[in-house]
This record gives sequence, C-alpha cells and structure tokens, in this order.
Amino acid sequence: MKRRDRCGSTMSYEKFYGQAEGYFGWRCIVCGDIIGKVIRENRFRKKR
Ligand SMILES: [Zn+2]
Repeated sequence: MKRRDRCGSTMSYEKFYGQAEGYFGWRCIVCGDIIGKVIRENRFRKKR
C-alpha cells in the first residue's frame, strides 16, 4: 500500500532517527515532505 501526499507523488516508507529513538514515516521522494507516525509517547516518559 502506497500513500500519496499533496503533490501526488509516491512516498517512501523509511525509518527516521530522532534525538533518542527512531520512528517510521512516509517521505515524499519529490518534495521531501514527511508524513510520519511520530512516536511521541517517548516525550511523556521522561522529560528533564
Ligand atoms: Zn510531495
């Protein structure tokens, strides 16, 4: 299953690396827009 963003191009499912943990998301191969399932649960765990 492929998703498309505004520009209607194909999006690539990739893993991105944040500060602490990585997350998966869809990156547009044309405009570079990222539609991600950002794992924000981590922000609520420990925040100093
Ligand atoms: Zn795009």
